[in-house]
Amino acid sequence: MPKRIIITGGSSGIGEALVRRFTADGWIVAFTCLTHEKEARALSAETGALCCVCDVRDEKSVGDALGYFMKLIHRPDGLINNAGIAQKRVLEEMPLTEWEDMMNVHLRGAFLWSRALLPALRETGGSILNISSIWGQTGASCEAGYSAAKAGLIGLTKALAKEAAPQVRVNAIAPGVIETPMLGGYSEAELEELRGRIPLDRLGKPGDVADAAAFLMSERASYITGQVLAVNGGLYC
Ligand code: NAP
Repeated sequence: MPKRIIITGGSSGIGEALVRRFTADGWIVAFTCLTHEKEARALSAETGALCCVCDVRDEKSVGDALGYFMKLIHRPDGLINNAGIAQKRVLEEMPLTEWEDMMNVHLRGAFLWSRALLPALRETGGSILNISSIWGQTGASCEAGYSAAKAGLIGLTKALAKEAAPQVRVNAIAPGVIETPMLGGYSEAELEELRGRIPLDRLGKPGDVADAAAFLMSERASYITGQVLAVNGGLYC
């Protein structure tokens, strides 16, 4: 029987690569989008994955999306908390609303989706993957809220891995600098400077993250839980 997975934020970048990778591998995929519904519908038509609009910050929206997906998916084997937003502002100038948005999209979203799916994942022996960031491991200047939220996701991963075991595995990926629309806030000079610091001498591609995700969600990773896999070209080891 094909495995079934829910992916948040599948309409762009890494999420889109995840949708393509898991559908190509024969999984039944359901994914969410927020502002890029047209692109998401096109991806859905192309890959056969199900999609719906869902704001991961909103409990009702998560509940509605879950209800829609579960009618079609019934027994999920996996959840990838991927939805995310970028930030570029020094802390002294950061409005509280922006700080809260960072926490709500990355942490509250992962909390709401994980809490909603855990009972079903316990039944199937499934697994959860959280997309954190290298900046959650090292901290990034002008991204204090983002770094704090992504570090929080690592804490959530490690705690939940203990709590959800032995039925459910919980891991994280910490991507480095991956070529997606999220890099739009960096200038060419900043990207060149970052590229120069990467031992493998290139920026990452969304497919690099999807390959690592495919492994962590597979049976080949059945003895791996509570881990953070860095996909960063050696930028931080
Ligand atoms: P992206 O291309 O901007 O995609 C972000 C995705 O998140 C989109 O599908 C977006 O949906 C969705 N999203 C944003 N806010 C949402 C909300 N409130 N509710 C539901 N969905 C929401 O960025 P990306 O680079 O692929 O990022 C994917 C994940 O990787 C994020 O968690 C990001 O922090 C992480 N990451 C990225 C990098 C990098 O270098 N690119 C590095 C480390 C970690 P819509 O477009 O439909 O609004």
